Amino acid sequence: MPEKKPCGICRRWFKPDPRAGKRQRVCSAAACQSERPRRNAAAWREQNAQQPRNLAHIHAASRTLAAHERHRPLPRS
Ligand SMILES: [Zn+2]
Repeated sequence: MPEKKPCGICRRWFKPDPRAGKRQRVCSAAACQSERPRRNAAAWREQNAQQPRNLAHIHAASRTLAAHERHRPLPRS
């Protein structure tokens, strides 16, 4: 017998689908179902902002910088 729990979006109590198991946090209302992926994306962006994982971009930028450095004429002393 699945326990009722509050929807993560509209806060209404709902009975989770036994097939969805404990992962279900959003009720079956169409508004909540369409809101869920947007919230997930927002949470993902927030996480990514806190711990940047797009190091490939940073590495690419530093490589470009290094390439520019090489092309710069060496100072004669
Ligand atoms: Zn809901």
